[in-house]
Amino acid sequence: MLIEVPDSHPRALSLHIREKLIDGFDKGLVAKAGLIAHGRGECFDYLIGEKTQSFAEYATEAACAMLLLAEHPVLSINGNVAALCPEDVIELSKVTHAPLEINLFYRTKEREDALLHHMQDYGAQEILGVGDDETVQIEELQSKRRIVSKKGIFIADVVFVPLEDGDRTEALVASGKKVITVDLNPLSRTAQKAQITIVDNIVRTVPFMTKKIIEMKKYSTQKLQEICDNFDNQHTLKMALQFIQQRLRELS
Ligand code: ATP
Ligand code: MG
Repeated sequence: MLIEVPDSHPRALSLHIREKLIDGFDKGLVAKAGLIAHGRGECFDYLIGEKTQSFAEYATEAACAMLLLAEHPVLSINGNVAALCPEDVIELSKVTHAPLEINLFYRTKEREDALLHHMQDYGAQEILGVGDDETVQIEELQSKRRIVSKKGIFIADVVFVPLEDGDRTEALVASGKKVITVDLNPLSRTAQKAQITIVDNIVRTVPFMTKKIIEMKKYSTQKLQEICDNFDNQHTLKMALQFIQQRLRELS
C-alpha cells in the first residue's frame, strides 16, 4: 500500500517515486536488487540537481532521432521501469510504434506474470517477452538473461533499455544492436557502453521523449540522420561529469 506523502513535504516528489518502487516490490514487479539500484539512482539524481540538464536534452534528441530512423525499434522494460512509469512507456510505445518487451535480470514465472498483468492494467495491448510470446536465446548472455522475444529484441536494430545492467548492455552491443539507455549514473558500464546514454531520471525522460518524438516526426530523414551522426556519447558523459563537478564545487 502506498504511504501518503503530503505535497507540502520538501522532498514530496522523490518520496512519491520511492513509494511507487516499494509498492512495485510488494506486488512482485521489482526485485530486491531493483530497490538497491533505485538508491544508487537517487544519489546521482541529487548530484544532477533532480532536473533534466542540457546533457540529457542533447542525448534525448539523438535517442529520438535514432528511434525514428529505426526499422525495428523495441522498448525494453524491467520491473523498476514498469513500477515507476507504466503509462509513460505505453505512450512512448504508441508514438514510436515500437513494441514493449519485458526483460528481466531476475526472471521468474511469478514476476513475468505480475509484470504482464500490471502493464495490461495500464492499457498495454501487446507485451513481448512473456506469456505466449515466442522467445529465443542470444548467445552472448548467460542463463535466463539470454531470453529475448523472437518478434522483439531478437530482430531489433535499435533497443531502448533504460536502467539496464552492464552485462546485458555489453551483450546487446556485441550482438550488433544500437543501444539507447537511461541511467542516472554516468559511470556505470551501461552508461559507458551504450551508443546513447540519457543521464536523467526515467520518470522525467520518458514523457520528454514522447514530446520530442511528436515534434521530430516533422523532420526529414536527412536531418534525423545528421542528429545521430553528430552525437558523441563520450562527450555527453563528460558533460554530465563536468556538470556534477561544477555543481559540487559551487555547493561546497
Ligand atoms: P552496471 O551494471 O551498468 O555497471 P550497476 O550494476 O551499478 O551498473 P544496475 O543495477 O546494473 O547498476 O543498473 C541500474 C542502473 O540504473 C544504475 O546505474 C542506477 O544508477 C540507475 N537508475 C536507478 N534508478 C534510476 C532512475 N529512476 N532513473 C534513471 N536511472 C536509474
Ligand atoms: Mg549491474
